[in-house]
Amino acid sequence: MPGRLEGKVALITGAGSGIGLESCILFAKEGAKIVAADVNEETGRATVKKIEEQYGAKSAIFVKVDVSKEDQIKNAVEVAEKEFGRMVIGKLNIVFNNAGIMHPDDDNAITTEERVWDLTFTINVKGVWWGCKHAIPALRRAGGGSIINTASFVALRGAATPQLAYTSSKGAVLAMTRELATIHARENIRVNALCPGPLRTPLLMDFLNTEEKKQRRLVHVPMGRFGEAIEQAYSALFLASDESSYITGSEFAVDGGLTAAY
Ligand code: NAD
Repeated sequence: MPGRLEGKVALITGAGSGIGLESCILFAKEGAKIVAADVNEETGRATVKKIEEQYGAKSAIFVKVDVSKEDQIKNAVEVAEKEFGRMVIGKLNIVFNNAGIMHPDDDNAITTEERVWDLTFTINVKGVWWGCKHAIPALRRAGGGSIINTASFVALRGAATPQLAYTSSKGAVLAMTRELATIHARENIRVNALCPGPLRTPLLMDFLNTEEKKQRRLVHVPMGRFGEAIEQAYSALFLASDESSYITGSEFAVDGGLTAAY
């Protein structure tokens, strides 16, 4: 049986860890060719190695990308089209703007420093903008496609352990997603936001660096546990595939019930 992404090419940022890593492997399993992009060369290359071991040489390539640098994102899109455009399969079809940071010094309105705010917005917001800016012409060339932007549940609710820059940046990702979905809907380009709940990945586990902080966050999760990156990857797969062909501009909450709770 053909995979759910057979014949597609997917560019995934933050490919070296967590959601990005699991999505690269799952998308490859479903037949996509993967362009794995990460600022961390070691972990990004390790992702590609894992995919090639399972799905053969040329099933994935690594591109070093710092998403806060426009020229590096532009290059990744060009690599995706050039490397995989030469093969039987098509051009770029899926762009998963997933890379993001949670700064250790992010805090409340009074204590968060401007440098923390600026770095968070440069990576989390500009990075998604650059990703969309360079993906859209490529997806047009491919006759349409799917963009998935990783936001967060904190874009839908305030975080009880304060991280104002992060929360605000993810709100911007949601707003950007809605507008892009509206503007490009008739070009067969769908744009959706994934809104994960709290996950057991390095990003959050490093930020919630005491047991008390971890438990404080779990109080709000009806399922009473942190989510796993693979649970996000399955939802990203749905948004990437043609199974979600009538879904655009959505806030896709995958959060153990967090945003449903009082
Ligand atoms: P993670 O730490 O496991 O992985 C993040 C990856 O992004 C790493 O491989 C890192 O090297 C890469 N990265 C960081 N800065 C980068 C940059 N400037 N350019 C390119 N790559 C960069 O984290 P994760 O939990 O998988 O997070 C992925 C996304 O999910 C992020 O956007 C994050 O904000 C979001 N998110 C995470 C949670 C959570 O609880 N972990 C919840 C909601 C949303």
